[in-house]
Amino acid sequence: MSDWWEKQIQRADQLTAQANGSKELLTFYAQLLRAQKDIYDYLRGRKDWLPSGDLESDLVVLKNAIPEFLKLVETFGPAALAAEARDLSETDDSVLAERLLAHWRSGSDIQFFEKAFLQPYLKWLAESDGRPIGREISAGERYCPFCGGNPQVSFLQNKETTAESGNRDLICATCLSSWEFRRVVCANCGEERPAKLGYFHSPKFDHVRIEACDTCKHYIKGVDLTRVGFAAPIVDEIDAAPLDLWAREHGYIKIELNLVGV
Ligand SMILES: [Zn+2]
Ligand SMILES: [Zn+2]
Repeated sequence: MSDWWEKQIQRADQLTAQANGSKELLTFYAQLLRAQKDIYDYLRGRKDWLPSGDLESDLVVLKNAIPEFLKLVETFGPAALAAEARDLSETDDSVLAERLLAHWRSGSDIQFFEKAFLQPYLKWLAESDGRPIGREISAGERYCPFCGGNPQVSFLQNKETTAESGNRDLICATCLSSWEFRRVVCANCGEERPAKLGYFHSPKFDHVRIEACDTCKHYIKGVDLTRVGFAAPIVDEIDAAPLDLWAREHGYIKIELNLVGV
């Protein structure tokens, strides 16, 4: 839904104005969300067209959105990304198209352009009942059931659900859809012994916590929507970047870096 993007953008603007967390990262992310929403709206608004899920053939349509996206990153991105965006816009479309295809087959969380550009495509693919074709889809409860992506952030909310899941969901870093996950379990290795799982938070970000695992030394951030119902987990997660610093200093590795590289 287009409303979903609106909600993320509004939350990013709101948190930027509060300047409690990472203002610079959020300022860029707010603009990036706008660019992603434009890609989403463009794909969704296209007459008589739905994504096939085969990126190679869908690129014919998708690539029209590349120039505007690069322009935005060049204008609002941090220096290194802005320079890369400028280089990419001066080279042939096919360069980025090749990178997108390579990422599609087997991606990594440090490939900013690929990941950011494909999120709105995959989101629309999921919502339009498509299915990704031609990519490795990891199976298992900790991977996104739609695209096989890693979790970006977890969130707690009150909803009718089984006691087993305990109202905890994960949001996919790749396609932005969410799925239910057991509450007291490491989202990386499946550890479930409470003594091995640690939760850390700071008063500055009262509804966000680090969910760390001492077995695999990985962590993910969790956003508690029962405390701040209007929070947007992927945005609040970025605002609370100082918590990542803490986690890294304590030897934990993030399951998946977010779009601003934190
Ligand atoms: Zn996914
Ligand atoms: Zn673990």
